[in-house]
Amino acid sequence: MSLREVLTAQINAQGPMRLDEYISACLLHPKYGYYTTRTPFGSGGDFITAPEISQMFGELVGLSLAQAWMDQGAPAPFTLAELGPGRGTLMADALRACARVPGFVDAARIVLLEASPALRKVQAETLSRHTPHWIDTPDELPQQATFLIANEFFDALPIRQFIRADDLWRERQVGVTDGALVFGLGPAQHQPALAHRLEDTQDGDLVEDCAAAAPVLSTICDRVAAHGGAALVFDYGDWRTLGDTLQAVQNHAPADPLTSPGSADLTAHVDFEALLGACDSCTTSRITPQGVFLERLGITARAQALAKTLSGDALENHIAAHRRLTHPQEMGNLFKTFGIVPKSAPMLHGLEI
Ligand code: SAH
Repeated sequence: MSLREVLTAQINAQGPMRLDEYISACLLHPKYGYYTTRTPFGSGGDFITAPEISQMFGELVGLSLAQAWMDQGAPAPFTLAELGPGRGTLMADALRACARVPGFVDAARIVLLEASPALRKVQAETLSRHTPHWIDTPDELPQQATFLIANEFFDALPIRQFIRADDLWRERQVGVTDGALVFGLGPAQHQPALAHRLEDTQDGDLVEDCAAAAPVLSTICDRVAAHGGAALVFDYGDWRTLGDTLQAVQNHAPADPLTSPGSADLTAHVDFEALLGACDSCTTSRITPQGVFLERLGITARAQALAKTLSGDALENHIAAHRRLTHPQEMGNLFKTFGIVPKSAPMLHGLEI
């Protein structure tokens, strides 16, 4: 059986499916889910992420959190956490760079939120020197100072899509026609969670809602506010997204989100307004383009130092990686970052309030 057959049978029996349910099944179905069954990162996989492009990303992110840890009096022990760590590359690079910060690695208890058993195994291998602990939900984060990173985690959380019809909304659903999965629209209904979108949309506009995102961030904020710490979030998206941003990627190329469920990565742009709205208990920074943030942290100096040790293809690749992470026409502008810290603490370096 394939995931398409499983979902088709379910829709035939129960009627059209909500988009968030469809995305959840595609990504995390216990038997056929995209993340459950494969390790999709890197040049041989379907897509490449910032930590897989260059070690500089994890190094700078790690040092930024270590600086915040020192700014807050170097609490020990503390939680060093990551949401959706992929292959564990970012955490490994961060820990290597932070080995020079006295006391940091010894005091860190590594906690990883990861839904995929296949990726947990890869993370265990990458981080075998550090005995990480895995959790299933943010509520399981220990009650202690928490320094946390999330790169391309929130874009993987399932969204719903709604099309405006006067002052009501019709939800986009997945149905079956002639044996194929197709998009359709549900009945026009009130959506209290979208009341603020009546201000900036017109009839026929499509808006997205990621209900799962805010509770994750608000739990993290509560830990940081209560015990100290910081969080640094990277993702692609912008302030209040408008229009259909659901995208499927397979073998580094765009794919149809309904054609091969479970075989393509599905993501959507992150609505940073919704994420920051969940951070009441902490100070939040402005959202900042990834390229600007990395430049402020000194990526060019780091790139030049590394370049001295390289030649030939390795040097060319390194120069291209620096450009890819920071250039406005590559990841530098599309990807944004923001930080959160306790109200009494200074903001993370490279970010502004
Ligand atoms: N941060 C990594 C990987 C990004 S891909 C990198 O930058 O390379 C998204 C990651 O989030 C994967 O590890 C995936 O398995 C995990 N993930 C997706 N949805 C999740 C969920 N609901 N709960 C926990 N982990 C999830």
